[in-house]
This record gives sequence, C-alpha cells and structure tokens, in this order.
Amino acid sequence: MRTSPALIVLLLVAGCTAQPPRDPAMGRAPLVEPAYAPLPLGHVRPEGWLRTELENMASGMTGHLDEWYPTVGPRNGWVGGDGDAWERGPYWLDGLVPLAHILGDSALVAKARPYIEWTLASQQESGYFGPTPEGPGTENLPQEQRLNRADWWPRMVMLKVLQQHHEATGDERVIEFMRKYFRYQASMLPSQPLDRWTGWGKARGGENQASVQWLYDLTGDRELLDLGQALFDRTDDWTGDFAAGKTADDYWRTHVVNVAMAVKQPAVQYRQTGDLEYLDAVDRGLAGLMEKHGLPIGMFTGDEELHGTDPTHGTELCAVVEFMYSLEYLVGLTGRVDFADRLERVAYNALPTMTLPDYTGRQYFQQVNQVRIADEHQQIFVTGYEDATCFGLLTGYPCCTANLHQGWPKYVRTMWLRAPGGGLAAPVYGPSTVTTTVGTGAVPITLREETDYPFEGSVRFTISTSAPVAFPLHLRVPGWATSVGLTLNGTAAGVPSEAGTFAVIDRTWSDGDVVELVMDLPIAVSRWHERSVAVERGPLLFALDVEGERREDASRAVGLEPGSIGTMHVEFHPAQAWNYGLLLDTDDPSSSLEILRREPAADATPGFAGAAYPWTRETAPIRILAAGRRIDAWKEYNAAAGPLPPSPVRLPPGEPETLTLIPYGASTLRIAAFPLIYQPKS
Ligand SMILES: [Zn+2]
Repeated sequence: MRTSPALIVLLLVAGCTAQPPRDPAMGRAPLVEPAYAPLPLGHVRPEGWLRTELENMASGMTGHLDEWYPTVGPRNGWVGGDGDAWERGPYWLDGLVPLAHILGDSALVAKARPYIEWTLASQQESGYFGPTPEGPGTENLPQEQRLNRADWWPRMVMLKVLQQHHEATGDERVIEFMRKYFRYQASMLPSQPLDRWTGWGKARGGENQASVQWLYDLTGDRELLDLGQALFDRTDDWTGDFAAGKTADDYWRTHVVNVAMAVKQPAVQYRQTGDLEYLDAVDRGLAGLMEKHGLPIGMFTGDEELHGTDPTHGTELCAVVEFMYSLEYLVGLTGRVDFADRLERVAYNALPTMTLPDYTGRQYFQQVNQVRIADEHQQIFVTGYEDATCFGLLTGYPCCTANLHQGWPKYVRTMWLRAPGGGLAAPVYGPSTVTTTVGTGAVPITLREETDYPFEGSVRFTISTSAPVAFPLHLRVPGWATSVGLTLNGTAAGVPSEAGTFAVIDRTWSDGDVVELVMDLPIAVSRWHERSVAVERGPLLFALDVEGERREDASRAVGLEPGSIGTMHVEFHPAQAWNYGLLLDTDDPSSSLEILRREPAADATPGFAGAAYPWTRETAPIRILAAGRRIDAWKEYNAAAGPLPPSPVRLPPGEPETLTLIPYGASTLRIAAFPLIYQPKS
C-alpha cells in the first residue's frame, strides 16, 4: 500500500518532519509546493525574433484592438460602457497586460489601465465586481455579448488579469479586492452554482480555483482552502472523464477550448490535496486526447467539438493558447520535461501559423493539411463557419480575436522560472534575457540566452553579476534529444544531462561565466491518421511548402463600418500541386532528407541570429528537401484535401520529384501529414 500523499501533507503540516522552511516564492503549505514558480512579470525579456514577434503584436492587433474592434473599446462593459459585458474585454486584457509589462511599453500599460481602474472601482459592498445585471441591453448582438453579466465565467478571466497587474506593479489593492470577492463567492456558490448563467463557468472552474490558490500563497487565509475545494466540487468532473479515457460526451466537455483548459484542472486539485490520483488523470487525459484526436502539431482537433485525427479537421486558436497556458501551469507545478516538450511543440508549430506576421489577421481554425484557405468549406467542421480558416480580424467566430493575445507573452514568461534555493530554471528555450535576483542573498543578475532555437540546437547562457553568487541553474534536456553536450566556460560541466531530465549546475557563479548547451536535433518520422507520416526535427514539424495566391477582400461586412480593418478577409488559393506522398526510409529518415540552411538575414540581431522574423515561407531559416510523388487519386474535396490515402500507397508511375519542406509554423498552404509511398525492396 502506498502512503497517501494527502497524509504526508498532513504530517508536514503537523510538524512531524524536519523539512527545511519553504521559500515564500515557492508557495504556501498545505498547498503542494510547485517545482518551479513564475518570476515577477517583466523579469524575462524576449530577444531576437521573439522580440519581433511581441513587437508585431504591439503594433498590430494586441496594441490596437480597442481601435480596430470597438467591442473591446470605450463601449466595453469592463470600462463602464453599454456594449459587450462578458468575456471579450477580459480576454484581451489577459494578453495585453503581460505584453505591456514584458515589453516595458508604457503606452500599452496606459491602454490597459482604465479597464483595471474601472474594475477595481466597480466592487460593491457585497464583494461583487464588474458589469451588473441591471446594465443596459436586453439582447446579445453578433459582436456584443451583453447578457449574463453576473456570470462567474468572465470574472475568472478578469481575476487572471488582476493577478498579472499585481505581479507587475505590486498594486496592493488587488489583494483586498480578491479577498472580498472570494468571500462573496463562497457565500453565493450554494445558491448560484457555476453554471447558474452559462455552462462555461462549470467547465472552467479550475481557472477560478487556481486564482484562489494564488491568493492563498500570498495571504495564507485558511478560508481560501475551503473555497478552492468548493470550486473543485462544483466544476465538471474532468478527473473522472480523463481517468476513464472518455474524451467526448456532452457539449461542454467536448468543446475543444474547455478541454484545453481542463487539462490542468485535475492538477490544480493535486496542488490542493497532494493526491497523485489527480496528476494521473492529467496523464491519462492527455494520452486519450492524443490517441483519439491527436495531430502532429502536438495538440488535438476541435472545430469546435473534439473531432478525431483527420488532418483536415480544425483546431481553434483559443484552444492553442489555452492548451499552452495549461502546459505552462503543469511545467511549473511538476517540473516535468514531457510537459515542456509538449509546450514547445505547440508554441513553435501550432501558434505562429495562425496569425499574419503583422498581426492584422488571424485564423479561427487551422488545418494540419491545409490546401486552400477560402470561404467555401462545406461540412468539414462540426461547427460550420465556412470562413473559419480565412485570415481576418473576425473571420469564423470572434472569441479568438480577443483571446489569442495571451499566447506568446505567457510563453515568454515561462522561459525562466524560479527554482528552489534561489535558483533559476529554463524549461523552454528561445532568445531571451532574464534580469532577477538569485541565491539566498537575493543578488541581482542578468542572464543572457543567445540561440537560434528552435531552428538549431545550441543555446549559450552568459551570466552578468556584480558579485559572485551561489545558485542552482536548471536546464531542460528534451525527451527527444539523443546527444547532449553541456559545458561551463569551455569545459565539460560534469553534471548528469540525460534526455527527459533537468541538468542542474549548482555552484558559485561569477561575472562572465558561460554555459553552453548543445543538443542534436534528430530528424524523426512519426505516424498519424491513416498511418500517414510527419517529418520532425527536434521541436519543429516540417510541412510541404505549397505556393499560394493571396486574395484580399476588404468589403466583408461583419457588423463594423464598411472598409474598417474588421471587415478584412484574406484567402490563399493553391498555385501548385499539393497531393504528394513521401518516399522515405522510415528506419533511417535522415538518409532520405537533406537539410538546407539560409544565411542569416541582414536584419537579424547579432548573437540572436536567424531571420528577424522566421515564420514566413520566405524567411524560414531552415528547410528540408525530400523526395515525393504525386498521388493523382488524392483530390480536393469541399475546399480541403480529400480523404487521406491510407499508407503505404503503392508507388505511383513517374519520376520522383524534389519537394521543399519548411517549418510548419512558417507555412500557410501545406501538407504535414503525408501518405507514405511504398517502395518495393529491389
Ligand atoms: Zn476562439
């Protein structure tokens, strides 16, 4: 019989053990101590292409959404207006606030401020805050959700916004405000359950519980532990679903965004109780989702309901950013490398392909095999928006327009986390600097991470400190790495660096110390729907680069002024054949593939080389040449690739052609789940 983790927690609380006192930065007992904890917002800065990405967000949709999309502008209910009073304002702020502080952009900070001030001032004597049921408007409009003002759900998003505001500014009003709201919530839950207004709150109660835990870590108010349990008890039973391998039932538990958020919900309860049953449920849930709905981009279909493994089925942008946020939570709580591997795979494949580089448009659904982006889809998706894959401000459905902004900023924040003992951990890699304090004496340091990752496998860390300081540095060694070199000032670091673990260098560091991590990026082939093959290299998936013709239509009216940016609608139509199978030696794929590198672009930052912006077919820093043949019977159907021929496909007649594969994140029209062509052994 194993000892109950809950019992261990009780013993710890009772003082029956000589554990060292917990670092306050790592959370408060009896909640489970996370392996790694976030650093204050703004300590991690992106560099190189990652800075370009965030700056494009600031100069594009994230920095201008209130101007381009009046639904979140001055008429929004979360700044006192008579318009949308539900989730879209808080969604936008959940990405705008971290973006503003990570970039140190005072104009963006000022843009978010009126919403935060209005929200703080809106709190009533009871503790309730936000738009009130008595507010104006008796109906929802296509761009304005004005009903259900008292719904628990939009408040769950606003709590995350206020937490980030507090973490960036130290605004102490947030603490009393949340205390008062949670007392209100505890008193109201028995009569106003989480689905009193809509089903979203009951499906997404894990977010609310995590916010309660955040406040408990800061205050130690014991009543918050009771509220956390009450929220868990009233949230949909994701643990039961996941443990049973059930991934589709009623609408709320099949909706892909709910599922992406729910992946962390049992883990929030693990933090509450210490019971490993809940972490097991996360693992079983992920395994079941990938088996029944998994895609090579590291996540599952959902258009909007979970929709099997067919690579022409859709994945919603909200699900991408919410799944990333769930994985970020899981990485911090557990310190497990497999969650970080999954996170990079989603961030470096599924996310960049869904936005235009200048952030003037985004997709609602992406397809892994995406051969035409047009307003013509018929019966491909469960929820049938025919323009769901078109780029635009409001194509498909507008939730993603408001919710996409959290994706990159929260990822950047996760690149450096606090490790126990005043240490630092790098769970995911990319060009960045972190300026923070380390060691038992809280010594200020800057750590510079120079790398072409995820396109190449070397990462160089340089430490700047005014005085020698002892702290542990935790570096993730991905599960896919087959060969790893780790050096300290040019000689072997001499610490274990097995794939799937964190290598820990615990020493006294001096100014100018350099650590280099060199990982091979092995080419691998994975198998998917109809035994199709996907080509991978480290965290990146590669896709056939299908040339397309871009067509813009600025006249689409979606309830906005004609000609405004919200009416933009971008289609891509194939200008070349896409129906190729691959000729591959699946036992030794690198023998049949050739890697080509581009010279770094002139506008690339020295030391953070590569392109200034790598996620386009023109600027992708790396490509792979492969041999393939056209499969004539594989044709377009309803503006999508028709049924995927089961692999292996008999060798079609004709000569092989050389195909160019580019990083999936840089592709627009593409095939990424390929039929494998059968080659008889000669
Ligand atoms: Zn969405």
